[in-house]
Amino acid sequence: MTVFSQMAAAGHEQVCHVADADTGLRAIVAVHSTALGPGLGGVRIREYADEQAALVDVLRLSEAMSYKAACAGLRCGGAKAVVLGPFPRDREAAMHALGRAVDGLSGRYVATEDMGMTEADIALLNEVTPHAVGRSLEAGGSGDPSPHTADGVIAGMRASLRAAGRAVDFQDLRVAVQGCGNVGLGVIERLLAAGATVIASDISQQARERAAGAGAQIVDNDRIHAESADIFAPCGIGAILNAGSIAELGCAIVAGGANNQLAEAEDGERLAARGIVYAPDFVINAGGLINVSDELDSEGYNAERVRFRVASIESTLDEVFAQASAQGETTERVAMAMAKTRIEAGSR
Ligand code: NAD
Repeated sequence: MTVFSQMAAAGHEQVCHVADADTGLRAIVAVHSTALGPGLGGVRIREYADEQAALVDVLRLSEAMSYKAACAGLRCGGAKAVVLGPFPRDREAAMHALGRAVDGLSGRYVATEDMGMTEADIALLNEVTPHAVGRSLEAGGSGDPSPHTADGVIAGMRASLRAAGRAVDFQDLRVAVQGCGNVGLGVIERLLAAGATVIASDISQQARERAAGAGAQIVDNDRIHAESADIFAPCGIGAILNAGSIAELGCAIVAGGANNQLAEAEDGERLAARGIVYAPDFVINAGGLINVSDELDSEGYNAERVRFRVASIESTLDEVFAQASAQGETTERVAMAMAKTRIEAGSR
């Protein structure tokens, strides 16, 4: 397939290849949609098998950003950048080269953090372009997104409980959390504070120890999805929901912060067929995006507004669950349709 046909498949507006001879930086920026506002998305630094793999990844990720921002009701579009690793040794010069490329897009793309990027890297980008957000709180930015993502996951769990016909009360609930990193640990702490019993797993010993220290009971990571629980919260890696794991799920609800939880589109149907309430990942985990996007507000970052918007993930999911039930459709498809409707309205 040509680049143009790959762009046309999901309606990408722009793809920009960046090569900096001085540092060896190679990057691709994909702007999926600016219908609702500037295309906001992280810079991912990763070693790809080849250029085609990098292109496929940046196209997929930028499209997903459009849907996440639209469902969260943000005045942002979707975009993403990938840097083909390994990252050049002269990090400062390479970040400046990337920043100049971002600047050349005149705000159609606003860069933020993703895998391999830090707040210090955003500060380097900001030395050459205003179109990068995710600054530290000390620098007047939005700081760590993870607590906001965890808040959003809890809000989404409340809507999920309601959709499952349960009382919206964490007291005496049993929740299984896979992945105890920045988001997972935040979710665990909030659940425990609200009176839930938490079982948790992680592939990292250190993360398991942190979760146990917070009060979670540690279980086998390969079997956590099958544990009897009210809610299973994937907060580690993606593609955790597949034909095999869905058949074994021991929960009534799947609601967690990890990205790309469904291994394939049919997994949404498999969950629905088992009567399991599934909170689409790109709706429930938008808290971090809501937080960082607030830096783009003309009046600057406002923590109160962020809290309000993150809390509204609950009502957005109420709407997704209601539509899914009325239409006999999967929650994933309903959320995607909701996003596309908002993007189309924006482009008109
Ligand atoms: P993190 O790196 O802080 O934590 C991830 C944790 O998952 C680590 O402790 C790691 O050991 C564990 N893990 C990795 N592979 C695993 C596996 N196979 N099984 C169990 N545990 C595993 O990352 P994070 O910021 O907490 O993000 C977690 C997930 O949430 C990711 O999918 C991320 O894309 C998504 N997400 C994060 C944010 C955010 O604000 N940080 C926002 C939206 C989505």
